[in-house]
Parts: sequence; C-alpha cells; structure tokens
Amino acid sequence: MKVLVINAGSSSIKYQLYDMPAGQVLAKGSVEKIGDDDSKLTHRCGSQTTTREEAVADHKMAMQRILEILVDKQMGAIAELAEIATVGHRVVHGGEEFTGSMIVDDRVLASIEKFVDLAPLHNPHNLVGIRAAQDKLPDAIQVACFDTAFHTSIPEVAYMYALPYELYEKYRVRRYGFHGTSHRYVARRAATLMDIDKYQFNTITCHLGNGCSMAAVRNGRSIDTSMGFTPLEGLVMGTRTGDFDPAILFYLADKGYDMGQLNTLCNKKSGLLGISGVSNDMRTLEQLAEEGNPRAKLAIEVFSYRVRKYIGAFLTVLNPLHAIVFTGGIGENSPLVRKLICQDLDHLGIRFDAQANETEKAREKTISSADSDVRIMVIPTNEEEAIAGDAFELAAPVAKAT
Ligand code: AMP
Repeated sequence: MKVLVINAGSSSIKYQLYDMPAGQVLAKGSVEKIGDDDSKLTHRCGSQTTTREEAVADHKMAMQRILEILVDKQMGAIAELAEIATVGHRVVHGGEEFTGSMIVDDRVLASIEKFVDLAPLHNPHNLVGIRAAQDKLPDAIQVACFDTAFHTSIPEVAYMYALPYELYEKYRVRRYGFHGTSHRYVARRAATLMDIDKYQFNTITCHLGNGCSMAAVRNGRSIDTSMGFTPLEGLVMGTRTGDFDPAILFYLADKGYDMGQLNTLCNKKSGLLGISGVSNDMRTLEQLAEEGNPRAKLAIEVFSYRVRKYIGAFLTVLNPLHAIVFTGGIGENSPLVRKLICQDLDHLGIRFDAQANETEKAREKTISSADSDVRIMVIPTNEEEAIAGDAFELAAPVAKAT
C-alpha cells in the first residue's frame, strides 16, 4: 500500500511517499514559501533531486504540485494517483479527545476545527492540508496523527495546573504536551535496541530541535512532559522562552507592553535567540562560542542546564530508568550540548562516555559507558515513518474490506 505523509505548516508542506508495510521511502520533498512569488518545490526520488521555483498561491495548489511531481514521467515515483491508498496527516492538537491516530471523518474534522482555538498557529494549516488532500485524492483514506495523542496517558496529577479548577472545566486549560509522535517513535526504537518489551520500558526522551520538549515514559506510555497548554512551556528553545515566572508578563504589561508584543517576545524573540542576541541556530552559536562570544556560550549553557534539570525531575517518577534518548536536530548532532547535559551524573547511575559521544560513525548510537545503570542513546527521530505506520495500520483493514 502506498501511503503519502503530509506535514502542512503555515507556509510549507512537507511530504513523503511510503511503500507500506515495508516502510520504504519512494519519494520525499517539500513546497516552501507558499503564498510567495518564489515558492520552492524540492523533490527527491531515488538518487535524483529536482528543485522548482514558481509562485504557489496556496496549500491547495501546493498539494496539486506535489501530486503532479509524484506521477511525473521522469521524476515521479508512481504511475497514477490512484495508487495512493492512504494519506497520513500530522495534526498538532487533538485536545483530550484523541488518544491515538484517527481515520478522518466529519466528526474528526469538526474536532480538529474545534481545537483551532487551542493551537491557532498550527491546526488551521493542518486542516487546510487535509482538505486539499481530500479534494485532490477523494478515494484515499485520510488519517490524522496528533502530536498530543501520545501524551493523553499523562495522569491528572501531572497535567493539572494549580489555577482555579473552573478554568480546566470551562476552557480545558491543562498540560497537553506536543512532539508526541517523535517521543513515541524514539521510545519504541530505544526499547527495541535494548531488547526490552516496549510496555515494560522506562525512558526519558529529549527532543531537542528548534522546538524542544522532553517526556517521561513509563511502561511505554507518556506520564509527563515539559511542554504544556501550548508548546511554549518547558525547555529553552530556538526562539521560545520555556519555563519562566509568569509575573514577568504582568511586570512588562505595567511597563507598556501589549498582548501582541508579549506574545511575540515569548514565542519569537526569546530562547537561544533572546539570550545570545544573535541567533536561534545552535550550530551558529557553537561557532560563535568557540570564537569567544560570551552570550552565545551563555545561551548554550542555559539551554543545556534546563534539560539537565528536567532529567532530574523525571528521574523521580521513573523507577528504574532504563534509558535517556536524544533526538531532534540538536539532540542528534550536537556532542557539545549532550556533554553539557550528561557529564557528571555518575551519582545518579548515569555514566556518560565522552569518547562515544564524539563519534560520527553511527546515526543511532550509545553514548554511556558499559557500566552505566542508565543507557544514554542518540536516535534520529522519524515522525513521518511513525505517521505512515499509523496510517497503514488504520487504513489496511478498511481497504481490505472495500
Ligand atoms: P530541528 O528543528 O530538529 O531541525 O533542529 C534544528 C536545530 O538543530 C538548529 O538549532 C540547528 O542549529 C541544530 N543543529 C543541526 N545540526 C547541528 C549540528 N551539527 N550541531 C549543532 N546543532 C545542530
């Protein structure tokens, strides 16, 4: 079965075409800068890569371009669109309602629409992606995979904020958590690599990219996570604050900042960018720190210290802890950050292997010493593969029955 995975953002759509259940990637690519005159389509099939720059007015047109290139005689991966039996969509917010991926029907669409209120920056684009796919591939089964689903197992004690309870009842203000597909993927993969049943496996997963979050996973299920009601809480991120005293907002409001400015400040101007004053990109900061820039160095240190603190917190709810897993652009590629986070934790049974940490050889690797009670691993995330797996699992019985 051919499964097309779609990740629709505000101005881009990323896609991957899978042959399932083999999990083979037949083609992948993206349309970026949707709505601009110089939108860019990048498409890879086998060893060939094509790039096209032309105006792509909206997501519907972007979907049209993606489907055209998938069946293109030279660059395409399939002969006709009817081969695409299923489309798996990344959807950021599924509220408390969706504990797993769902075949899209009117009820599911209505709920995703309802959660626009909770994720105004993400769900509208995800919806547009689903509608464009429905329009262009009316016979395909559409499946929605929610970033929040993996975290619906978090118990009340961990998801409830100490705000007046009515806010939860009235507005569903609580911790939801995000990056769930990634946390689930690397937790399952780590269990497999350690040869432990996934439902008996305890791990702390650290997704460190431009957005960053951690999850405490007990018996294969998320029991706590660093992101909250929105993806702003928790770790220091590229441009987001993570945890900070909310009274700072009242203070700044008193100084004349309005809601819009505070929102931009917390989501777009803080984090690594805010502290360093120069970049939200870890590679740039590492370079600058090496050249002696003190604020770039400070940004990296604050970033790493926050992760370390959350490891400490999550250790108290996982007994035993089998593994700590690093993933995401920074988690997978920055030995420096992993070192700052993991060194000198021997007293907790976490023994870091500095040499293994530096090795470039393997994409998946262990960076703890053989005598460490807790294995530290680097595992590249693959949210698309996880979405393709879910879409296939849900769609295969339906496709067979019809
Ligand atoms: P993501 O959002 O997962 O794509 O991650 C993006 C982040 O990963 C950016 O801060 C990049 O600078 C960082 N990153 C990617 N490659 C490296 C690398 N080799 N060393 C340090 N950071 C990296």
